[in-house]
Amino acid sequence: MDEIKNVSLEMRDYIVSSGAETLNWCMQCGLCTSLCPWRLVPGEVSEAFNIRKMQRLGQLGLEGFEEEEVLFACATCGMCQNNCPRKVEIIDNVRSMRNTTVGAGFLPGHLRPIMGSVHANGNPWSGAQEKRAEWQEGMDVPAFSADTEYLLFVCCTSCYDPRSQKIAKSVIDLLRKAGVSFGVLTAEENCCGETVRKLGDEELFQKLAGSNIKLFQGKGVKKIITTSPHCLFAFKEDYPELGGEFEVVHYSELLGSLLRDGKLTFSGELQKRVAFHDPCYLGRHNQVYDQPRELLQAVPGVELVELSRARGKSLCCAGGGGRIWAEAPVGERFGELRIADAVENKADILVTACPYCIIMLEDACLGLEKQEVLQVMEMSELLTAAG
Ligand code: SF4
Ligand code: SF4
Repeated sequence: MDEIKNVSLEMRDYIVSSGAETLNWCMQCGLCTSLCPWRLVPGEVSEAFNIRKMQRLGQLGLEGFEEEEVLFACATCGMCQNNCPRKVEIIDNVRSMRNTTVGAGFLPGHLRPIMGSVHANGNPWSGAQEKRAEWQEGMDVPAFSADTEYLLFVCCTSCYDPRSQKIAKSVIDLLRKAGVSFGVLTAEENCCGETVRKLGDEELFQKLAGSNIKLFQGKGVKKIITTSPHCLFAFKEDYPELGGEFEVVHYSELLGSLLRDGKLTFSGELQKRVAFHDPCYLGRHNQVYDQPRELLQAVPGVELVELSRARGKSLCCAGGGGRIWAEAPVGERFGELRIADAVENKADILVTACPYCIIMLEDACLGLEKQEVLQVMEMSELLTAAG
């Protein structure tokens, strides 16, 4: 006979007090599980992870939610949360359940060097803090000063990953072209901490955020442009709790409003069918859907095609919630469904607006050997190429 598991209301109360205030609102209808992208792929994690069940285990303080394939599976895409009939803050529940184990010193092996680097270097990419600005060499990027309107905050990924650096450079070209007053701080900054918090390391998140808030306030920052929707989320949703109140936009929002005002145009032609992948943290988490589409359609020759799951129903790339550092075998990646969708729609280019999505979608495209028929581009790169 299987061992009987004991209910632990102390554990339940601890999870709730760590930020899962809505855990007990869940009525176990199971809609979250049926909408979760894990239901669309096969494999071990897919078999182990069920968000409804994970929350039930949390409600009862029962063992099982802390197993690695369960606890660290959620990509925090928001699909379940946006549709929950009880308005359960599912991602906060996941974050709190992670905190019960991460706070006690447990981390899966693949996350240890990542979090170790955040502790040591202020970024997850094992790059030395003093090298955070190396990507700017030869570019003459303006430094932020008190009379600059916007701080441009470049995501750690685009500071250290050579592929991703092209995104930061393209965003800078576009801001210059549009005449935006902006500057960077770079070497003094730390990771925004968005993913660190989602992984459950609340203490480290508070350290990173506190240091950034102090830096921004000390430099007189009022407005921030982010290159990544994840930094956008952290600054807009997480930092105000800690006293960091800033006016924050993703670069696509700012360029979109300049386009609408007639202050930005594109003259270069691009005769391509282009599909837009809505990043979860730009779309579902921040409701930015129209501006990227308007920008892409402003490029002469571009034919915009919609994927089968678009806007609020967009399919997650699986890069959020720390999944960007998880190894998923070919055949089990959400991004592969996205690539197949774009190919089926006869898109020449799959465009997105997030450094994490770029990594996940390019990997998926290579895994499926579709790179000959489909190019993956960040929107800033396509707009820069359009001139
Ligand atoms: S959709 Fe909401 S109420 Fe239904 S099981 Fe999921 S969290 Fe619970
Ligand atoms: S946030 Fe996304 S990945 Fe996480 S449980 Fe909900 S639907 Fe699944």
